[in-house]
Amino acid sequence: MFDTIAQEIPLQRIDFYGRELWIKRLDLVHPYISGNKFYKLKYNFLAAQAQGYQHVLTFGGAYSNHIAATAFAAQLFGWKSTTIIRGEELAQRPLNSTLALAHEMGMQFQFVSREMYRQKSSPEFLQDLQHEYPDAYILPEGGTNALAIQGCQEILSADDLHQFDLICCAVGTGGTLTGLIEASHPHQQILGFSALKGDFLTQDVKQLTMKRNWQITDEFCCGGYAKTTPELLTFIRAFEDQYQIPLEQVYTGKMLWGLSKMLQRNELNHKKRILVIHTGGLQGRRIAPA
Ligand SMILES: *Cc1c(COP(=O)(O)O)cnc(C)c1O
Repeated sequence: MFDTIAQEIPLQRIDFYGRELWIKRLDLVHPYISGNKFYKLKYNFLAAQAQGYQHVLTFGGAYSNHIAATAFAAQLFGWKSTTIIRGEELAQRPLNSTLALAHEMGMQFQFVSREMYRQKSSPEFLQDLQHEYPDAYILPEGGTNALAIQGCQEILSADDLHQFDLICCAVGTGGTLTGLIEASHPHQQILGFSALKGDFLTQDVKQLTMKRNWQITDEFCCGGYAKTTPELLTFIRAFEDQYQIPLEQVYTGKMLWGLSKMLQRNELNHKKRILVIHTGGLQGRRIAPA
C-alpha cells in the first residue's frame, strides 16, 4: 500500500526574495495521508502489520493532521482506528472537519478528561491503555517514535543530499526534523521552524540525535501553536497567489514566512542552495480570503 502512494516527489523551483528556493512537494503525496505524516506512518504500519495488528490507536484532536492521516491509512489497510481525545473537543457541534472526516473513515473516538489526556505519554497510562485495548498498536500523539524517524529519513533523496546546503522544515514534535538530520550529510545545515513557543523542542531533538548540524527557531511561531497574526495570513495569501502552491497556517505558512524574514535580513547569504520541505497538512488549511 505505501509503495503505491509515494513515488517520485517533485521538486519545484521558485524565485523567493531574490533567491532560488527548491520546494519538495510532499503535500502532493496524498490529500490526507499527507506530507511528512505519510513517512511517519509508513514503518509503523508495516511493523504493526508484521506483528498481526489490525487496529491502530493514537491521540489528538481538532485539526490534527496526524489524526486525519492515521484514519485514512487504517481505512486503506482495512483496520480499525481509535483516537483518544479530550472530551470538550467532542462536545463541540458540528464536529470540526478533521474529526468529521476521521469519523467517516471509521475512526472511533474515546474521550477522556483534560487531566487524563495530559498523562498520554506516561508509562503507567500507556500500560493501562494497552490493557484496555489489547489488540491495538499504539502510536503517540503526533506519531513521533523511532519508526517515524526512520521513515522521515526517506524524505531526502540521494540527489537532495548532494545538492543542498540548507534544508528547512516546519517542526511540531521534532520527529520529521530528526529524520532529516539523521539522513543529512555533515556539510548540510537543517533549520527547523517551530510551530510552538519555547525551546523545549531543541531539548527534545537533542535527545533524539547525536548530530549537531541543526537548529530550531520559534521566532516565527506567532505566539504559539495554531495562533496566527494578520501579517502571517497576508503573507500566506500572497505566497499562494504568486506561486500557486497551497500552504496552511499552522506549519508551512509559518516556515516560509520565517524564511522570507531571514532572507530579507540577509541572514542566509552564506547558504547557496536551499531546500524547503513542504510537509503538507492542507486538510487543516483555514485561510479566509482577504
Ligand atoms: C505534523 C506536521 C508537522 C510537524 O511534524 P513533526 O514531526 O511533529 O515535527 C509539520 N508540518 C505539517 C504540515 C504537519 O502536519
